[in-house]
Amino acid sequence: MRAVSKVFFTKNLDQAAALFDLSGFDKLISPNDSVALKIHFGEPGNTAYLKPERVLGVEKKITALGAKPFFTDCNTLYKGPRSNAKEHLAVAREHGYSNVIIPEDNDCEQVEVNLKHLKRVFLGGTAVRANALIALTHFKGHELAGFGGTLKNLGMGLATRLGKLKQHQDCVNCPELKTCRKNQTIEACWVGPSALVQEKMVEYAFGALKNKKGKAGFMNFICDVSPNCDCFSHNDPPVVSDLGLLTALDPVALDQASIDLVVQAAGRDVFRALYPDADWSVQLKYAEALGLGSRRYELVVI
Ligand code: SF4
Repeated sequence: MRAVSKVFFTKNLDQAAALFDLSGFDKLISPNDSVALKIHFGEPGNTAYLKPERVLGVEKKITALGAKPFFTDCNTLYKGPRSNAKEHLAVAREHGYSNVIIPEDNDCEQVEVNLKHLKRVFLGGTAVRANALIALTHFKGHELAGFGGTLKNLGMGLATRLGKLKQHQDCVNCPELKTCRKNQTIEACWVGPSALVQEKMVEYAFGALKNKKGKAGFMNFICDVSPNCDCFSHNDPPVVSDLGLLTALDPVALDQASIDLVVQAAGRDVFRALYPDADWSVQLKYAEALGLGSRRYELVVI
C-alpha cells in the first residue's frame, strides 16, 4: 500500500508565507543554509509567469530563519533571451525579481542516477550546491508533458542546456545515426516523444533532489493556467479560473493533487483535450515508481 502524503491547499494565492510554516518548510532550513528558490521567470512577452508579489513572503520567511535564500533558474535550450545567464538575469529583473543567481552553462554538476534512461544528469551547479531547495511552480499546460508542475520545474528547469538536450534527444531510431556528426553536440535535434521526455525529465528531478533529502519543499500556484509553458513569448487565455495555492513535502502528491483540482474545476481533462498525444500520467507514475513520492494524498484545506 502506497503512503498518503499531505497536500495543503488554500484558495488564497497570497498565502505562500502562511503555508510555508503550516507545511513544515521552516523545519527544512537551518541558520546559514543557502536556499535555492527554483522559479521560472517567464519569457519576455509572457504575462502568465509567477509574479514576485506571490512569492516574496517565502524569501522573507527564509531570511528570518537566518538562512540565505536566492531565486534561480537555468538557461533555455532554445536560443532566446533566457539562453545565457546575462540576458536571463535581465529578464528576471524586468519581471520584478532581484536576488537572482543564474548559473552559466559551464557551471554544471553531474549527478549519478543510474536509472532506466540515464546514468547521470547535468544540472545547474547553483541549486545542486545549495543546502536546501524550495520549488515555486506556476502550474500550467505543456505541449509535451501535458502539464508543467513541480516535477517539470525541477527536472527540466534545473537542467543545464546540455541536460535539457539529453531529455529531448532521441537519436536511437534515426536512420542517420551512424553518419551523424552532431548527435554528441548541443546542436543535436531535439523534440522527443512525450512519454520518453517525461521519464527522462523525472530522472532529472530525481537527480536534482538526490542531495536534498529532508531539505526540499514544493509549492504549486494554480493561477493564470495558460495552455502552454511560460517559455512562450505570449500566453493564451487560461483554461480554468484561478484555483489557489498548494504546498507539500512530496512533489508527486503535489502535482497529482494539482492536476486533479484542475480537471475537477474544468469538468474535463483540459490538458489531454489540448494535447491528446501527451499522457501526463506518465510523469506521475514514473516519479512514484522511482520513490520520489506518492500519488495518494490527503488534501488539507486551509
Ligand atoms: S542529431 Fe538528429 S540527425 Fe543526428 S542522429 Fe540525432 S536525430 Fe538523427
